[in-house]
Amino acid sequence: MSIVLICNNKDPKPWAEGLSLAFPDTRVEIFPNVKNKAEVTFAVCWKPKPGDLQQFPALKVVQSLGAGVEHILQTTPLLPHLRLCRIVDPGLANDMWEFTLATVMNHLKKLRQYQQQQQNKSWQQHGYGTIADTRIGVLGLGKIGALVAERFAQLGFPVSGWSASAKNIPGVTSFQGEGELARCLAQSDILINLLPLTDSTTGILNMDTLKQLPQGAYVINVGRGGHLVDEDLLSLLDSVHLGGALLDVFHQEPLPNDHPFWTHPKVSITPHIASLTNKDTAMAQIIENYQRLQSGEPLLHQVQIQKGY
Ligand code: NDP
Repeated sequence: MSIVLICNNKDPKPWAEGLSLAFPDTRVEIFPNVKNKAEVTFAVCWKPKPGDLQQFPALKVVQSLGAGVEHILQTTPLLPHLRLCRIVDPGLANDMWEFTLATVMNHLKKLRQYQQQQQNKSWQQHGYGTIADTRIGVLGLGKIGALVAERFAQLGFPVSGWSASAKNIPGVTSFQGEGELARCLAQSDILINLLPLTDSTTGILNMDTLKQLPQGAYVINVGRGGHLVDEDLLSLLDSVHLGGALLDVFHQEPLPNDHPFWTHPKVSITPHIASLTNKDTAMAQIIENYQRLQSGEPLLHQVQIQKGY
């Protein structure tokens, strides 16, 4: 039994060091420098390339280095005997809550506009939104979205949320399934996307759905770039149906220099930092999962591969 790290756009060394310390008698290698591929049973991955995982005939577990697994499933059709796990961390949900809170309050109080005015020494007052009058909609009420929705409701925002199955979250109106998406959108002055990227959620933020938001709505995309049809968002921002957007995730990251989002006056950009994987928490979960694989216990945070999340 041995462990392989397959990392693109992420440094595998700290993870390899942590695993080597935890399992001094186990071979821990960084792809593609693997001595005996037939020995590898556990692969720790970030954005593996097509064909990478297929090189390990004895592989049993694929462990994502993040909360999402689309970066694996989009490149690698996993065989049914393989188990796929992700990181679930209360800290990740809390950090996302803090990020979305900052974004929402910044938008309500028009702080971006005042920053722009300051560049021109322009003294102009504008109206602002308030918590009680701003309806928030959260797409995806999983480990992260549920906490975000509940905390906004605790602050006094009217909150609704949308998920595949119905939820019972204090203060949050729950909508479920495709048939109820429109009702959630219609009451979202601020829409926060926290869905996982799957076949059924790809492109879900498009002309048809974004048009169903109230006039002047604000869109916060902290899910994945693949959820958004960029041209549709731009068109609705330009036609003044939408008031603005904060985008943390993109089809291509880093966002290419010539992308119109960079310079659009109604778009704020952050470089995929809404909530970052905590190395210590993630490492503890990965170590535990390798131990569980060895002892035959159920794994932590196993993903249903057919559902895609
Ligand atoms: P979970 O898997 O815990 O939750 C996913 C939620 O989405 C569930 O409520 C699920 O419904 C719902 N859902 C999935 N598919 C559909 C669908 N077709 N229709 C309606 N609802 C659907 O994920 P997490 O909360 O842990 O993470 C969510 C996403 O946040 C991640 O996949 C990742 O993309 C993003 N993320 C972004 C970060 C950033 O820094 N920008 C950091 C961390 C995560 P149900 O509960 O009924 O199954």
